[in-house]
Amino acid sequence: MRGLMQDWPLLCHRIIDHAAMIHGEREMVTRSVEGPIHRTNYAEIRQRALKVAQRLDRDGIKLGDRVATIAWNTWRHLEAWYGIMGIGAICHTVNPRLFPDQIAWIVNHAEDRVIMTDLSFVPVLEKIAAQLPSVERYIILTDKAHMPQTTLKDAVCYEDWIAEADGDFKWLRFDENTAAAMCYTSGTTGDPKGVLYSHRSNVLHALMANNGDALGTTAKDTMLPVVPLFHANSWGIAFSAPSMGTKLVLPGPKLDGASVYELLDTEKVTHTAGVPTVWLMLLQYMEKTKLKLPHLKTVVCGGSAMPRAMIKAFSDMGIEPRHAWGMTEMSPLGTVCSLQPQFTSLDAEQKLDILQTQGYPPFMVEMKITDDAGHAQPWDGKTFGRLKVSGPAVSAAYFRVKDEILDKEGFFDTGDVATIDGYGYMRITDRSKDVIKSGGEWISSIDLENLAVGHPKVAEAAVIGVYHPKWDERPLLICQLKPDETATRDEILHYMDGKIAKWWMPDDVIFIEAIPHTATGKILKTALRDQFSNYKLP
Ligand code: ADP
Repeated sequence: MRGLMQDWPLLCHRIIDHAAMIHGEREMVTRSVEGPIHRTNYAEIRQRALKVAQRLDRDGIKLGDRVATIAWNTWRHLEAWYGIMGIGAICHTVNPRLFPDQIAWIVNHAEDRVIMTDLSFVPVLEKIAAQLPSVERYIILTDKAHMPQTTLKDAVCYEDWIAEADGDFKWLRFDENTAAAMCYTSGTTGDPKGVLYSHRSNVLHALMANNGDALGTTAKDTMLPVVPLFHANSWGIAFSAPSMGTKLVLPGPKLDGASVYELLDTEKVTHTAGVPTVWLMLLQYMEKTKLKLPHLKTVVCGGSAMPRAMIKAFSDMGIEPRHAWGMTEMSPLGTVCSLQPQFTSLDAEQKLDILQTQGYPPFMVEMKITDDAGHAQPWDGKTFGRLKVSGPAVSAAYFRVKDEILDKEGFFDTGDVATIDGYGYMRITDRSKDVIKSGGEWISSIDLENLAVGHPKVAEAAVIGVYHPKWDERPLLICQLKPDETATRDEILHYMDGKIAKWWMPDDVIFIEAIPHTATGKILKTALRDQFSNYKLP
């Protein structure tokens, strides 16, 4: 027997309708690409999103067409999102930090018909435009006063373009499983892969993010997503914050410590989210200036492992660190670390041990760990296994790729290696391709990196396996020191000694100027492996 409840499709634009109706005056503050701080609210965002939808519709953009955005976190970017999705077109967020050839590859694979771009990326697009046959026109996310001279095809200034619409337009109605957005994984191995989110998966993911032990903001809070809209939906914040009526503060192009601090402080931000490199810059700035953030309650940190020293630094300031793990294929939330009640009476160091794990999944994410043959491994907090996931906001396939990506039970292999304890707390020990295999045993590169960055002189650390005639592979520690610091190999190894098993100790330490990163801020281990492929251990 079927239930007798309404069929109310879960559509993304219903979120902005709700925000405008119930929280219409709630502010959205942006550090604009042009420079000044810009203020608007949810009611205005919805009205302008309707104009975007009306203009796209008039330009002949149809259900299922791809419209790309290459843009920072700004109010224009957000209203473009809702406008694109509101006519059933697919909002394809492109990561501008990719190499131009990768951007061209992705735009061609997606067959984007329109590109909406910030001023910052006009020069890059001009260089590759000849390689983008599917793109019919470019919309520059700026006003008339800042519109540049450009060779981009049929380029139009966004403010002029939406001014031609009156906003007297109705969202289109369609099934909730219709595609809403797409985002390519950065493809550190092989070609980038297109992840295609549906309206339903985005709405369910927003509810998941709103869980009080996950991102959990309310109408009384202010959220600053430093994580870009092009990095897996800014971890869902573009949907979750408006659904709750949370004030949004958007940092535009300036993500350095001083700029982020200034917005956190002046806008009295209570919640923020970003990758560890961003928090490293903020903490260094705060340490140097001795400034405080009395309004900040929660810092969500994910994308790469949050180092223990960073967790402690925020905790010591009375700010709750929320270590999160996820991936583009998961929309992206997988787990978030918040202390369950049985841990609240632990001492500070024991609490740090828990907070350093990637946490446990909210409702709507299921996990398992398996061995290479696919057999489930125990949740004992010790046994490593391949981490596999399932849920309504987890990919079932990649865009235009035929390969099956789920196992027999419908789980997706994340490519991560992890342990899970009896309470469901998951700890990533490595990417399966980064794990160091020494004499048949596994060494976790992440554990070694976390330990090394605890040294007061180390800004960032990467560990890779290098060839060893006896053990196959041994760990090599590569460090980037904090500005104006010097250190020796023995100093770093001495600091690590006794904190890990003897056989995990790196065989050598190298200091480099700058650790390379991927377009989503992760350590680019492939580049380090290439650079040190012939490295001879002492
Ligand atoms: P890509 O960078 O390839 O586009 P994602 O941005 O989706 O992919 O990154 C997903 C991967 O990032 C995860 O599978 C995991 O390896 C890593 N990751 C994300 N969060 C964490 C974390 N908190 N700790 C360790 N690794 C993490």
